[in-house]
Amino acid sequence: MTEMENDNVLTSTQIVIDEALRKLGYGDEMVDLLKEPMRMLAVRFPVRMDDGKTRVFIGYRAQHNDAVGPTKGGVRFHPGVNEAEVKALSIWMSLKCGIADLPYGGGKGGVICDPRKMSFRELERVSRGYVRAISQIVGPTKDIPAPDVMTNSQVMAWMMDEYSRIREFDAPGFITGKPLVLGGSHGRESATARGVAIMIDEAMGKLGIPLQGTRVVIQGFGNAGSYLAKFMYDAGAKVIAISDVHGALYNEQGLDIADLMDRRDSFGTVTNLFKSTISNEELLALECDVLVPAAIENQITASNADRIRAKIIVEAANGPTTLEATRIVTDRGILLVPDVLASAGGVIVSYFEWVQNNQGYYWTEEEVDAKLRLMMVRGFENVYEVHRTKKVDMRLAAYMVGVRKLAEAVRLRGWV
Ligand code: GLU
Repeated sequence: MTEMENDNVLTSTQIVIDEALRKLGYGDEMVDLLKEPMRMLAVRFPVRMDDGKTRVFIGYRAQHNDAVGPTKGGVRFHPGVNEAEVKALSIWMSLKCGIADLPYGGGKGGVICDPRKMSFRELERVSRGYVRAISQIVGPTKDIPAPDVMTNSQVMAWMMDEYSRIREFDAPGFITGKPLVLGGSHGRESATARGVAIMIDEAMGKLGIPLQGTRVVIQGFGNAGSYLAKFMYDAGAKVIAISDVHGALYNEQGLDIADLMDRRDSFGTVTNLFKSTISNEELLALECDVLVPAAIENQITASNADRIRAKIIVEAANGPTTLEATRIVTDRGILLVPDVLASAGGVIVSYFEWVQNNQGYYWTEEEVDAKLRLMMVRGFENVYEVHRTKKVDMRLAAYMVGVRKLAEAVRLRGWV
């Protein structure tokens, strides 16, 4: 991805934030405050690699706004991480928390690195090094990290351990997405996908199409994509295509998801084991009922939006559809469930995990699932209602719902 496109992610977020705030009746000062994170820390930290040499890593932590409560959001380990992207992602976290009505503002972190090219112990040292570098500005009542692209529960465990050592007390509420035995929550690992599945159900309900036999195409087979494929398969839908960084698999009769889940590696790579694959571009253009981009930013763009042949697009990834493409698919009558709504399941169950850590009292998987469903459905209804009554596209509607409470909290605190 080019630097131009990355900058775009922030610029396009700012365009929609501006529009949403003005539709809600706010002016320049509120827009000026909320269009950028209130804090952005950039760090360079040394890590001893397995070959004995020291390598310097660059990381970031952005905190969008803490008027509603502590900031919250994942940490991604990816070679493409950069300042503009981390900033945009922190704003999106504020919107997700707003839509779900969680007592948080948005935060986000990232380290420029490629975990696929690191050993297990190198990954541990990078995780601990990052926490040492940002420890001053994070904490259970300040800013609470979580998993994101290419970080998982093991990385969260190292980070929690490092933070607890620095502070000299056990701090499970410092981070979410932890393994169960270290204070993790039931249902957290599959939460993003669970939320997306609920959104597919709601959106299909609006179109009056039953889930049974529905043709689903999923781009990406990482945490969100693979669990979603499983949930769709279990619910009787037909997952006709999935993809990873190497390519895509397609079978119009439906893929054997259980088999693919068994054969994928921890980064969601599986298509390299097959001979007959199609390209990611071909996958996006497949005729289907539901298309779920579950990989990274800027996948559905002005150059391929005309070729999409889905009835519904549900964004499991952050920022997979550009603004121009949003306009094109909306004009073509495709119902789009935007990222800040569709992928809120992860942070919702993170919130449940944090609540359980703070209380020291743990819930069953059924309790988590039921509470998650309630919040996701309420979020969908609120966004759909604004979309319908204010005649704005689903993305703008989601931004309006997402920023509403934050702007009010800012106003009541007297900041604007
Ligand atoms: N990284 C996830 C997201 O983008 C989850 C964040 C969290 O659980 O705090 O929504």
